[in-house]
Amino acid sequence: MTDLRVCHLYPEHLNIYADRGNIAVLRARCRWRGIGFAAIACGPGDPLPDADLYYVGGGQDRDQLLIEDDLVGRAANLRAAIDDGAWMLAVCGGYQMLGHYYRGHQGDEMRGTGLVDLVTEAGPTRMIGNISIDCELRPGQPLTVVGFENHAGRTRLGEGVRPLGRVLHGHGNNGRDGGEGAHAGRIVGTYIHGPLLPKNPALADLLIAEALGRRHGTVALEPLDDRLEGMAHDAALAIAAG
Ligand code: GLN
Repeated sequence: MTDLRVCHLYPEHLNIYADRGNIAVLRARCRWRGIGFAAIACGPGDPLPDADLYYVGGGQDRDQLLIEDDLVGRAANLRAAIDDGAWMLAVCGGYQMLGHYYRGHQGDEMRGTGLVDLVTEAGPTRMIGNISIDCELRPGQPLTVVGFENHAGRTRLGEGVRPLGRVLHGHGNNGRDGGEGAHAGRIVGTYIHGPLLPKNPALADLLIAEALGRRHGTVALEPLDDRLEGMAHDAALAIAAG
């Protein structure tokens, strides 16, 4: 049977703005299609489960600090899993920890996993508000992704790392270069909460299809009735445009 295995990293620590809703969407969209689904929680000290998709949500600086050592200690295993075909989705605080470091506004520095060549430094103000981006995670399949952002961190991508998308409305990575998030191979990072996936079903399906590919090859996902999700998406897009 086709099934998706998701590892939810630090659900007790990194789960701001209902980020766990992303797991609920992945579960629902698999089940509606008769695809098996398992989400395995992985907290500090737990063994890293074998998974098709590793997911980490957002959190405040102090929450990130609580899992810093554990997450950094998993960097090599996560790298190996991704090289083996797994995907990773990281939101906000989790996204920042994909990089080399996160420097707080007081100069305190937290290490990241270095899975993606990026760094984050907090600024004096928070970047808060509704956001929309143009995204082309899969070449030739442009999407508009919508949601909400709230971060002090300004993220800069290394040379050769592509943003997940271009900001239409909102701040994105740093409020300056027009980029939002990062897409590096099978790793996707984004500042977008909302949570991200309920209003962006096309992005959810893309991640499901790609992650299923690790063990099941190319899987054609049956279309779902996304009228409600589409309305939520379009409403969020209009709100972001002000
Ligand atoms: N602590 C980070 C920041 O403020 C992330 C916040 C979040 O996950 N919403 O930049």
